[in-house]
Amino acid sequence: MTEPARNTARRDQDVHFDSVGEGPPRYRARTDKPVQYLTVVDKESGAVLCYVWAGDEDDAAAWVPRDDAGGRALADGGHWHARLRSAKERGLLPSQALAELLASPESNRGRVLPDSLTTAPNSDAVKTLAASTESHPPMATPPQGNPYATAPRAGGPNPYAHPGQPYAHPGQPYAHPGHQGHPGYQGHPQPPTPACRFCGGSPAVPVTFRAHRGLLVVMTFRKLDGPMCGACGVAVYRALTTETLWQGWWSPFSLFLFTPFTLLHNLVVSRKVKKLQAPAPGQHGRQVDPGVPVHRRPLAYVGLVPVLWLLFMIVSGLTRNS
Ligand SMILES: [Zn+2]
Repeated sequence: MTEPARNTARRDQDVHFDSVGEGPPRYRARTDKPVQYLTVVDKESGAVLCYVWAGDEDDAAAWVPRDDAGGRALADGGHWHARLRSAKERGLLPSQALAELLASPESNRGRVLPDSLTTAPNSDAVKTLAASTESHPPMATPPQGNPYATAPRAGGPNPYAHPGQPYAHPGQPYAHPGHQGHPGYQGHPQPPTPACRFCGGSPAVPVTFRAHRGLLVVMTFRKLDGPMCGACGVAVYRALTTETLWQGWWSPFSLFLFTPFTLLHNLVVSRKVKKLQAPAPGQHGRQVDPGVPVHRRPLAYVGLVPVLWLLFMIVSGLTRNS
């Protein structure tokens, strides 16, 4: 379907809201459980600025500046700190917060390296990494969510070894995203069979789910895109659709245009992921919790309030004139 023209200027902007007042909930700043982390590089020099890690088991997430990155890393940290705080305030799991960073990867100075999602044994391992002069900590497990790291394990002929495949290029260390000297790094081309961006499982299809919030004159547009498997895709669909159902109605343009579009868009796109078979057990990492269907989420019914109010206004207007 074609998307109607809309206010693209505000799309993909960072979606975080300054919090005021009493202390908001925070993610824990340390965990002994396995974490996943993203690498943030300097947009100008390509040098690693910091790492942002997250672990769902302890509800923990934080950013860690690289010791050798100096003041630029610290200056950039406020951005990632604020994004994590905002995610926590919106009730996201740490892994979902990371997924948001991947979906909207830029700060003023830095950028999340695509495909840099990596597993570490705990948060201290990421700290050690940030303090070291090397680029990778001792690995507990192969990087999760990295489609290139899991595919060749299947036993059959390695599809990436085929001559002509970009992944077979000797200069392309695909399991280790280039951390240094890639200022223009634009990410890898799509692999032939995409793996789910959240759990690494397949089959997965590239999809984009959206959320919309309208608050009088302020509107925000958020999206989560990338290849998603049946399980994670449905989870994202439910989360963003429910969010839109209760936050989407509170400005005029939202009520008549953006929110109906967002809901319809998500509904159509959700069919793509619902058609997929769930990844076989053992072939995927931790998946996004699908939760309950949208119609069983009480917040979704907030959407009825503005609709009923609108009906009331129309009916009362008609009866007054008659
Ligand atoms: Zn998945």
